[in-house]
Amino acid sequence: AKSMGHNMCFVYQSSMADNIDAYLTLGGGLRKAIEEEQFILHYQPKIRLPDETVVGAEALIRWIHPELGMISPDQFIPLAEESGLILPLGEWVIRRACRQLQEWRKAGYPDIKLSVNLSSRQFMQADLVDMVEKVLEETGVDSKYFELELTESMLMVDAQQSIEKLHSFRKLGLTLSIDDFGTGYSSLAYLKKFPIQTLKIDRSFIHDLGLDSDNDAIVKATIAMANSLNLKVIAEGVENRAQVDVLNKYHCQEVQGYLFSKPLNSGDFLVYLDSHRAV
Ligand code: C2E
Ligand code: CA
Ligand code: CA
Ligand code: CA
Repeated sequence: AKSMGHNMCFVYQSSMADNIDAYLTLGGGLRKAIEEEQFILHYQPKIRLPDETVVGAEALIRWIHPELGMISPDQFIPLAEESGLILPLGEWVIRRACRQLQEWRKAGYPDIKLSVNLSSRQFMQADLVDMVEKVLEETGVDSKYFELELTESMLMVDAQQSIEKLHSFRKLGLTLSIDDFGTGYSSLAYLKKFPIQTLKIDRSFIHDLGLDSDNDAIVKATIAMANSLNLKVIAEGVENRAQVDVLNKYHCQEVQGYLFSKPLNSGDFLVYLDSHRAV
């Protein structure tokens, strides 16, 4: 229970009410937060199988709110989408990520790849490709180390236009990944019409690996088909050894999840790299 601002002073009983409460407060603060750069990126290692070396990372945004502390993206990305603030915020993420790639290069890790998530409104933005090109140039990043994570639903809004946009990104030299694969309705055969390089299997499928034979069969078939289409497969949400064993058996190329590391701030990520240096 808490009381808030002006004419709002209720004793809330349910967490639902607290969520609505927080939602309204966050919406108002978002614009200011962007101006004041109250955001940071965390980096979750991507691990190659079967040798388990660190080959990349996914950038995940956090809002460091002056009063509420760290707020997760699920709580403010939808707000940023609705208000359109996702456009300046998304540009900040891409610029910050590119600068991070340069920092890793200077620290002696030039081969680490970094992916960033795009939201649908951002993907629909007309000058998105130009913006990304500008930031890559500005920061001097070699685009082959930069990856964008997109969702199926994002691509299906206007499939033809998406295909063209993805081809423009490919001309810049970066790679494209389908996030949360399996949660949408598109088949892999259809997705192959899009110039993508990586498939990220949604963590709901990884959660049940080794526990449910139907689920295992889906994951096995997905990896086999993706590999035959020359797509790299990464599994997200890997939390235990049993899952890694099954993924190795199915020839999954990369994994990401709490078993290896939670998302880390840039300082801690560098410590992680230093202690997992490939020999
Ligand atoms: P996502 O892209 O599917 O990211 C994976 C989420 O799973 C992250 O949550 C990550 O912390 C979490 N995760 C990683 N390993 C494990 C694990 O082993 N088990 C479980 N249960 N979870 C794990 P996070 O950081 O809270 O991000 C949530 C979502 O917010 C992301 O889902 C993505 O859709 C969105 N997001 C994050 N950063 C950005 C961004 O910069 N821009 C946009 N547009 N969206 C973002
Ligand atoms: Ca992602
Ligand atoms: Ca995902
Ligand atoms: Ca997700």
